[in-house]
Order: sequence, then C-alpha cells, then structure tokens
Amino acid sequence: MIGSGLAGLTAAQALVDHMERVTVVERDRLPRGPRRRRGVPHARHAHHLMPPGLQGLEQLFPGITRELHAAGMVRVRVPRDTLLLGPGGWLPRFESDLAMTTGSRDVLDAVVRDRLRADPKVTFLQEHEAVGLRAGRHDTVTGLWVRGRDRGAPGGWGEPRVIEAEFVVDASGDASRAPQWLAELGYGTPPESVSGTGTGCASALFAPPVGHVADWTYLRLMASPDTPREGVLSPVGDGKWLVSIAGSTGPEGLPADHAGFLRAAGGLRHPLLREVLEGAVPLGPVYRSRLAQNRWRHYERMRRWPDQFLVIGDALATFTPSHGQGIPVAVHSALLLDALLRSHGSPVGVTYRLRQNLARQVAAAWRTATTADLPFPWAEGAEPPAPGTRLRRRYADRLAAAAPGSRRAAGALLEAQLLVTPAPSMRPGALAAALRGPRRGVPAEPPSTTHGAPRRKGAPARRVTGAPAGADPFPVDQLSVDPFPQLAPGSQ
Ligand SMILES: Cc1cc2nc3c(=O)[nH]c(=O)nc-3n(C[C@H](O)[C@H](O)[C@H](O)COP(=O)(O)OP(=O)(O)OC[C@H]3O[C@@H](n4cnc5c(N)ncnc54)[C@H](O)[C@@H]3O)c2cc1C
Repeated sequence: MIGSGLAGLTAAQALVDHMERVTVVERDRLPRGPRRRRGVPHARHAHHLMPPGLQGLEQLFPGITRELHAAGMVRVRVPRDTLLLGPGGWLPRFESDLAMTTGSRDVLDAVVRDRLRADPKVTFLQEHEAVGLRAGRHDTVTGLWVRGRDRGAPGGWGEPRVIEAEFVVDASGDASRAPQWLAELGYGTPPESVSGTGTGCASALFAPPVGHVADWTYLRLMASPDTPREGVLSPVGDGKWLVSIAGSTGPEGLPADHAGFLRAAGGLRHPLLREVLEGAVPLGPVYRSRLAQNRWRHYERMRRWPDQFLVIGDALATFTPSHGQGIPVAVHSALLLDALLRSHGSPVGVTYRLRQNLARQVAAAWRTATTADLPFPWAEGAEPPAPGTRLRRRYADRLAAAAPGSRRAAGALLEAQLLVTPAPSMRPGALAAALRGPRRGVPAEPPSTTHGAPRRKGAPARRVTGAPAGADPFPVDQLSVDPFPQLAPGSQ
C-alpha cells in the first residue's frame, strides 16, 4: 500500500483478510495520536464526514463510530443543529434523521490509523517513499521500489530497494506518480478529465466568543455564482471551531491573516459569519491552500495494464472538496476492493474488474460534483454537461429555490448534499415544491434567536445575496410546527 491517507488506511484494512501481511509505505513520520504531518496539508481545513463515509468506515472497522465520537469528532444533526444559507436562502431547521460528522481531520486519521496499528498483519513503513513499480513477466507488478529517509544522504533519501509484493495499491493522493511509473514501464499515461481552476481555501481555528450561547453548532454560507465563495464554521471538539472560507481565489487572493480572514468573511453572502467571528478568539494562524478541483485519471480506459496493481483514492480522482465526496469515495473503493477480492478468490487477474468497477463508482461522484459546480466560475472550460446532467441541475436549482419555504424541498436537497441520495429525490412532495417555486415572504434572516450581533431596532433586514429578500415572515412550512420559530424582522 502506498500512502497512509484515508484511502490508503481503508484499502489496507480491506486487504487484511486477503493477504498474509499488508505493508503501508508512508513518506511521512507518522505521529502517535492526532498530530499534524506534512503529507496531508488539507487536514488544516474543515472536513465533513458524510453519512455514506461513516457507514462505510463502520463496515470496515466495526465500532469505529463510537471511537470517533469518544476522540472528539462531533455529530451534527442536519438541519436541526445547522444554520445553512443555501442557494435560495436560509434553510428551515427541523428534526430529521440526517446527520454528518465534523471534526479535526487529524483525529479522524489517528483513530483509523490506530485500528490498523493494532492489527499484527499490518506494518507501517514510515519515512519511506515509493519511487517506482517493479514489473514482472506477462504484464504483472511484483513489487515496489522504495527509498528510506536518510538525512545524511544527498537529497535526504537513501538508495532505492525493492519490497516484494503480490498486490500493489497506489493511494498516494493527488500528486501520485503512477502515470509516470506506468509510462516508464511502457503502458502509456491515462487520459484525464479536469474541471475547475482558480480555487482555494483558507482556514483558522477559533474559540467561540466568551459567553457564546447558540441553538446551532454548525454554520454554512454557501457560495452563489455572483459570490463564488463559501464560509463554513464546523465544530471540531473541545468547543472549538474550525472556520474555512473556500471557493474562487479571486483577484484579491485568499486571506493570509486574521484581519484579511474577517474581511473575507464579511464579503460572503450574509454577514453572519463575520459577526460571529468578531468576538471569537483565534487559536492559530490562517492556513491557505490552492485546491485541486475535479480531476479523474481514466485508468479504466487504458488498454494495457499491469495485473496486481491498482490506483485508488485521490490518486485516481479528486472532487471539489466542499461536496464532501473524497472520503466516502475512498471508503467505498476499499469496500469494493474487499468484495471483489472475496468473490474472485485471488489478487491475480482481478485488476481489470477492479478498474472498471472503481470507474463506475467515480463516475457517479463525478456527475454529482460537476453538476453542482456548473453555475460557478471555476467550472469554466469544463466539458459541456450531458443533457441529463443539465436537467438534473435545473431540478436541483428549482428545489434549492423552494427549499427556504418548504421542508420537503429542503429535505430532498440536504439528502443529496449529504450524499445520502446520488441526486435530489423526486418524491412527490419535493417535486411539487420544486414546481411551485419559491414562496414569498421567506425571512432573509437566519433561523436562530442566538446568533451574531444584535441588529438595531427598526433597521432594515439585511439582504442575502443570491436569494430573494423577504418582507413578512411566516412559518417556513405550513404543514408542521418548526421547533425553531422564525424571527420577526427587527426583533433581534
Ligand atoms: C481542503 C480539502 C478539504 C477536504 N474536505 C473534505 C471533506 O470535508 N470531506 C471529504 O470527504 N473529503 C474532503 N477532502 C478530500 C479528502 O481529504 C480525500 O479525498 C481523502 O482523504 C482521500 O485522500 P487520499 O488518502 O487518497 O490522499 P491523501 O490524503 O493526500 O494521502 C496521501 C498519502 O500518501 C503519502 N504519500 C504521497 N506520496 C507518497 C510516496 N511516493 N510514497 C509514500 N507515501 C506517499 C502522503 O504523505 C499521504 O499520507 C478534502 C480535500 C481537501 C484538499
């Protein structure tokens, strides 16, 4: 196994039942417990574990949900615990059986890593870098070239050596060198689909303002085509918040310090995030990353391929991070690996089926990501969407417009956002709401009594960009009583 990110860790677990032993080759020194490391700089940004990701992790590591929560990961009930500014306005809050898990990515990795460390069949070869594949006869891979960290050697790495392997999986992330390795062995390079450029993410850790009390734990101001940046405040355990501003880097670039971070928060579709952060206490610097957007290396299309070699996780495909697809796809790829090895009974002769099946999985996630990205500037230059995709997008847009005034529309939209359904459901209630369109008079203010700075009495309602401004509030959904009553303008 190359790489000990979540794709590598979960695929290693999938292999355990099928191999005598599993060696995880990792370039970094691996920390004990939840600590930062160089190989996963994205761990500094907010991560959401969507329901299919958590369910898949639980299948691979029974009991891990409890361990994750005990270690500090936070269960966020959606939309009950959330303030969500969707494309059409603030979403209503109500009880549902939807939930996602947020928290520190370091905690998530550490809990999963510890489960593998406890398995005597698994060895972590830390501070070792994979540098190539060893080819066998008849289009096979029989080992991996690695070199160990040697601080005294020129370049900091020792001489390459081979590790014999019956099956090699590349889970080395977006910067995977599998295309070069395959080319060096005469197999050529995979065609790629790429969509999205010019995006990034800035994140910082905060303690809530002293005395902060709120009936929500998670805040997200989604981007819109005319404000192509989103802000997300996620609880990360110990009462701390990880706040990320992501999307178009724009001419002004990503904020580099806390003053810039507050300014950028103020430029989002609603001032709430800025207001909340004004009293919050920064607990560290602002970290910035340029983001790879959607990129899919089409290994399934390569006509020649060495057996007993597979590429998985971000090394195979990356998706716009805000859709939360990376971990679920990695985890379900590991489950697929387990299922196909089980049905085939041997790691020999199974990689063709694996490549095709993984591609089908990626294709579904790709459709979701590229459909959701369509209205945004970073999707410019992307391949034109198929007619079916355009139709799905139109339905999602209508649903999003109706969602502030309809729980049924909001529920269908949220299920798709949490990846519980591959696309927004066309259940009769949701479909009817989408056809009816936005309701008039939906409040422009967030559905909470406990947020942000108090607004002066009589001051005009603040406009939410990209959403209709409402005048008279009325219950969000006439069919049931909201546990969080909407506020009358001027009452905050
Ligand atoms: C900013 C950001 C936010 C994200 N947010 C979410 C989210 O909210 N929800 C979600 O589901 N997904 C999210 N993702 C995606 C998610 O992090 C990944 O899809 C997922 O973790 C799988 O990554 P991976 O294991 O394939 O790669 P990585 O996490 O990149 O891990 C690759 C590993 O391989 C090691 N490595 C690299 N090269 C070598 C080599 N040659 N030899 C040995 N080791 C090597 C690296 O050190 C690293 O440990 C986000 C991504 C980014 C960038």
